[in-house]
Amino acid sequence: MKLNVCHLYPDLLNLYGDRGNVMAFKQRCSWRGIKINLFEVNLGEKINFKEMDFLFLGGGSDREQNLIAADLTQRTSDLKEAIEDGLVVLAICGGYQLLGKYYRTLDGKIIPGLELLDFYTEAGLKRLIGNIIIEVVLEDSIIQVVGFENHAGRTFLGHIYPLGRVLSGYGNNGKDNKEGVRYKNVFCSYLHGPLLPKNPMLTDYLIATALKRRGWSDKLDFLDDSLEIAAQKVMLKRLLK
Ligand code: GLN
Repeated sequence: MKLNVCHLYPDLLNLYGDRGNVMAFKQRCSWRGIKINLFEVNLGEKINFKEMDFLFLGGGSDREQNLIAADLTQRTSDLKEAIEDGLVVLAICGGYQLLGKYYRTLDGKIIPGLELLDFYTEAGLKRLIGNIIIEVVLEDSIIQVVGFENHAGRTFLGHIYPLGRVLSGYGNNGKDNKEGVRYKNVFCSYLHGPLLPKNPMLTDYLIATALKRRGWSDKLDFLDDSLEIAAQKVMLKRLLK
């Protein structure tokens, strides 16, 4: 079995080590003998999303988001087609914000989004910073997901589901208790950490979804996640006491 992974703008959208999400996805596949072809795509470089199985967009400061917005916009129709065809996408924070209608920065500049997902983001004065725990419903299970958030943007959802419910922390806007976005196989979140290394169940869910989409078995070999689970328990105890 083989999966094609696209990491978009790896040098520009890599806030707080978000590239660790690609490393975790790749490593948990390799441990199971699933071959990964990694395509790192920078500004102006071409990629055929139809041939991809997992696409990752990391976080970035307003400056980086501004730098990549025009290039990302050029990819809108190909990305829309791939998302509607079930491409598994993980977009974190700054990368997440750009999939919506727009991101208005603190100085009032509008960074246009791809308008692929029904939400918008507007920066607020106080940055939303801290450890965060959310509850995520995956087909047959409910999991607690731990991470770290640091964003000025407040995201407000239209007719679209959140990824999860905030148990501790701010989430999309610090007000409506929603965090991230979920649409088909697109998973958006404000959680850095990086997210996937801290939450192996979510990583495996993304891997299984990508395999199933290509007609392969989504039953994954067991991995010993005792270290990750122990680390999660520390954060759950600290934040949910
Ligand atoms: N620049 C955006 C904000 O401040 C995204 C930040 C990030 O990716 N951590 O909301």
